Amino acid sequence: MTIRSFNPPPRSLMGPGPADVHPRVLAALARPTIGHLDPAFVGMMDELKTLLRQTFRTQNALTMPVSAPGSAGMELCFVNLVEPGDEVVVCINGVFGGRMKENVERAGGKPIVVQGTWGRAVDPEQVESALRQHPKARILAFVHAETSTGVSSDAKALAAIARQHDCLTIVDTVTSLGGSPVEVDAWGLDAVYSGSQKCLSCTPGLAPVTFSERSLEKVRDRKSKVQSWFLDLNLVMGYWSGEQKRTYHHTAPVNALYALHESLVMLSEEGLEQAWQRHRHHHLALRAGLEALGLELMVPESERLPQLNSVSVPAGVDEAALRARLLSRYNLEIGAGLGDLAGKIWRIGLMGYSSRPANILLCISAFASELGAMGHNTDASAAISAARALLDQDADCR
Ligand SMILES: *Cc1c(COP(=O)(O)O)cnc(C)c1O
Repeated sequence: MTIRSFNPPPRSLMGPGPADVHPRVLAALARPTIGHLDPAFVGMMDELKTLLRQTFRTQNALTMPVSAPGSAGMELCFVNLVEPGDEVVVCINGVFGGRMKENVERAGGKPIVVQGTWGRAVDPEQVESALRQHPKARILAFVHAETSTGVSSDAKALAAIARQHDCLTIVDTVTSLGGSPVEVDAWGLDAVYSGSQKCLSCTPGLAPVTFSERSLEKVRDRKSKVQSWFLDLNLVMGYWSGEQKRTYHHTAPVNALYALHESLVMLSEEGLEQAWQRHRHHHLALRAGLEALGLELMVPESERLPQLNSVSVPAGVDEAALRARLLSRYNLEIGAGLGDLAGKIWRIGLMGYSSRPANILLCISAFASELGAMGHNTDASAAISAARALLDQDADCR
């Protein structure tokens, strides 16, 4: 058998990530590769840092993309900030909080788990009492936007509690950055990581991070070397922050960084606050359509993420069969539930460039027609009208 060029099918990505990538970003990826120490490339890197600071809403000098996916951004924060024996309070209300705990253990730290409920926000009172009971803890780690459940936690309140107890924060903003408010400086977040492929509408594989001066002091004061060579901030900084001379650390993923630069230029052209508004507005339109089909969102309204909608699977519907039909007939990808929620929810993402009216109307029509074909009573026309009515309300969000 001859293996030929790979041409992916044309999908609409409405799952938990990656999201649809804008043609402008794909075009940027295809531009000629230049050397990663070329002065033209170094100039682009400086712009990239400025764009990331705007997106994170921070003045932090150390703000850069890690050359690896969101998970590496997570690992970078833990391996640099946690030293063997350190107590770290970790909030778990879904899959990604669980991974944070794993990271603490692998860095030799002692995780103190604040166990929350899947599908609910992290409870600030539980966090407060854990910090009171463990006065030696110097780090609080939590996920701002839990993609496994579609829940938003109150990062501002959690960071304020951490500060009262003299703790730094490690915050996962992989799904929130670009889709809902993230205010690194105003909320006083310390070590914050994200991912390129969710609300930033870029290709997967890069992890924007930002570190406060306070958190860098802890890194500089380490008694032991960071056990990861690739993720050791002291070394990575030599490449990303050496003002005049940049030292070779690893070959930057040159074309991927063009793509991230383009996606952040697009975000600044739209306006960050306008992008938050667009996600919120489209979430309301999607919700109106789904509710008109008799479907319910799982997360309580005040804790919902606009960019990740968890929909309860109605009794008698085979959730995997419906997802398979959406993919094969409509080229539409949505996500399944994880862990305890497997088989119980669908996860519909409205992230970045995926958050647009055509996708919402496709999703509502596809659900209506396939639920109907599976014997579930639905009114397709009422659902489309309900979503349309909301989409028509705000011309800026098209
Ligand atoms: C997607 C995601 C990650 C991991 O990012 P990868 O790019 O898949 O490594 C981490 N945290 C959250 C909340 C995510 O949604």
